[in-house]
Amino acid sequence: MGRIYNFSAGPAVLPEEVLKEAADEMLDYKGTGMSVMEMSHRSKAFESIIGEAEQDLRDLMNIPDNYKVLFLQGGASQQFAMIPMNLMKNKVADYIITGQWAKKAFQEAKIYGTAKAIASSEDKTFSYIPDCSDLDIDEDADYVYICENNTIYGTKFKTLPNTKGKPLVADVSSCFLSEPVDVTKYGLIYGGVQKNVGPAGVVIAIIREDLITEDTLPGTPTMLKYKIHDDNKSLYNTPPAYGIYICGKVFKWLKKNGGLEAMKELNEKKAKILYDYLDQSSMFKGTVRKEDRSLMNVPFVTGNDELDAKFVKEAKAAGFENLKGHRSVGGMRASIYNAMPIEGVEKLVEFMKKFEADNK
Ligand code: PMP
Repeated sequence: MGRIYNFSAGPAVLPEEVLKEAADEMLDYKGTGMSVMEMSHRSKAFESIIGEAEQDLRDLMNIPDNYKVLFLQGGASQQFAMIPMNLMKNKVADYIITGQWAKKAFQEAKIYGTAKAIASSEDKTFSYIPDCSDLDIDEDADYVYICENNTIYGTKFKTLPNTKGKPLVADVSSCFLSEPVDVTKYGLIYGGVQKNVGPAGVVIAIIREDLITEDTLPGTPTMLKYKIHDDNKSLYNTPPAYGIYICGKVFKWLKKNGGLEAMKELNEKKAKILYDYLDQSSMFKGTVRKEDRSLMNVPFVTGNDELDAKFVKEAKAAGFENLKGHRSVGGMRASIYNAMPIEGVEKLVEFMKKFEADNK
């Protein structure tokens, strides 16, 4: 039995080294005689796990002291509600719609106040990022919201929007830790970790401290207040302890491998192999405007549904898993997160070349 190349959009491939380490520690975590799954979240051992995880993340992303790091639950989707509940003081927020996930967040925000779509790329099936240099930002907007990397459509903001002084809120679920970021440009950065960082069940939110207040919308449940999680250092209730432990291991793996600069270089190299091939292929075509292409999610099509299905099937048989595009768009999508080795992308391209030659 061997590992296959897993191109899933999430939950997705994790570093083999991390999985092996976790396996080694499964029965006896560092002499405690138990696994991390079995230990109290109030124990000394877990205190170190979550403390180190936070510090390592701070080191990796260069997070300033006036930003809080929260380990939360409920998936990225829970943030769609938690953000307006906590941040919509004026009950106004501006949303940039670049795909399904931004749209879902926008629709959720409408439950709580006046959410406005100030830009969208829906006219061309979300295949590009709209110009966000001079948008009609509402004077009363509590924040401007983006989905920074669009998992389904394979686009990424290369330039952050000009928010005209309003806090920027970004869903980075599918580009978390894939390259360096300037945290100071955001009010709130959050992501579900199940793509680039760890197992599903953990959401990390990095929030500028002035945005964390008691002043939430009436009726906000205690569990959905950033303040309660901040006051209790992410231990208000039982956190997703095992997931946090794996995230911590991934942070250490990233640090050991040169941090986010090195990751960016490697991710650019990997993505280039695939995009270069797509750009010259007479069978496969990338679906995204070149300047907006994601380093993480690479959608492509042959233009023929039957041929797409044949490709996905044969690729699977050859050990390339989860290449089917999202159910809403079809075609193919290769997600090439941090933990996808460069050989995985090289071999996929070799396979695509052969498929192209065999199906002329
Ligand atoms: N945002 C983005 C960018 C995503 O890709 C996803 C899920 N794939 C979500 C939000 C929703 O995440 P969750 O399933 O954790 O709620």
